[in-house]
Amino acid sequence: MALLFIAPDRNPDPWKEAFDKVDSNLDLFFWPAIDQHKKINFIVCWNHPARLLDRFPNLQAVASLGAGVDHILADECLPDHVQICRTLTPRLIQEMVDYVRTSLLMHQRNITFYLQQKRQARWKHRKNRIASDLEVGVMGLGTIGRKVALELGNEGYNVRGWSRSSKQIKKVSTFAGNKEKASFLEGLDALICLLPLTSETRGILDLEVFKQLKNDAILINIARGSHLVEEDLVYALDKGLLEWAMLDVFQKEPLPDHHSFWNRPEIVITPHIAGITPPEEAAEVIIENYKRAISGMDLKYTVQRDKGY
Ligand code: NDP
Repeated sequence: MALLFIAPDRNPDPWKEAFDKVDSNLDLFFWPAIDQHKKINFIVCWNHPARLLDRFPNLQAVASLGAGVDHILADECLPDHVQICRTLTPRLIQEMVDYVRTSLLMHQRNITFYLQQKRQARWKHRKNRIASDLEVGVMGLGTIGRKVALELGNEGYNVRGWSRSSKQIKKVSTFAGNKEKASFLEGLDALICLLPLTSETRGILDLEVFKQLKNDAILINIARGSHLVEEDLVYALDKGLLEWAMLDVFQKEPLPDHHSFWNRPEIVITPHIAGITPPEEAAEVIIENYKRAISGMDLKYTVQRDKGY
């Protein structure tokens, strides 16, 4: 019985150290250094190579090295019986909350406006906003969205949250399903996307959505690049339907050199760093799920394949 780590673009050293600290007796392999595929019961992966996951005859579960599982669900080689789970840690969730808070503060204090103004050597004041001036909407009230909504509510923002099933969250006005989507969006100052990428949510951030927000609203997308219809964002910015956008995720990552987003001062780009999975905390979650899988127990942060998240 063994665990296999597959993350070709990650430095394996901090992961080796973190796994060793949690359990030095663990039977652990780092792809591609694996001799017998039949030893592997559990795989943890990020950006794994294609045509690989069906080569392990005793595979019981696959964990994502992060919160998203769209890369695993898109893999046609994954056998039907294999369970899927995610890896979430307190630090990653707090980093996501901090990213949203930073973006909102930038909006409140007009930072992108002043950065543009500096390039033109202009000295013009704009009105400051405080938290209670803003209506903010969180799309997706799962592990991360719920925490974001809760913290923003505690900080004095007027918070709305939208999910598939109805929820009750303190200091948050909640909306559910497509029937309540328009009421959720109407007149928002900031729209924050924290949805999983599924067939229902792909391309959800489109012109129809932007038209329902306030004209000086901002978009914060820290979920997945394919939630956004990129040409609709450019059009909405050109038409003054949105003031600016804070984007951490893109349809193609790294964002290609020639991409038009690079030249738009109203689009702030960060390289998929809103929340980073920390090896020290993640190793504990992964090893716990590995032990649960080989003992036939339910996994933590399990994913329902039919729902896509
Ligand atoms: P969860 O799976 O925990 O939560 C998903 C939420 O979205 C649930 O509230 C769910 O509703 C809601 N939802 C799903 N489909 C729909 C739909 N069709 N209509 C309305 N609501 C819907 O996700 P997480 O909170 O863990 O992650 C959120 C996103 O953040 C993911 O896309 C993830 O990949 C991304 N992420 C990005 C990072 C970064 O660094 N940029 C880091 C970590 C995560 P219900 O509760 O009713 O099921």
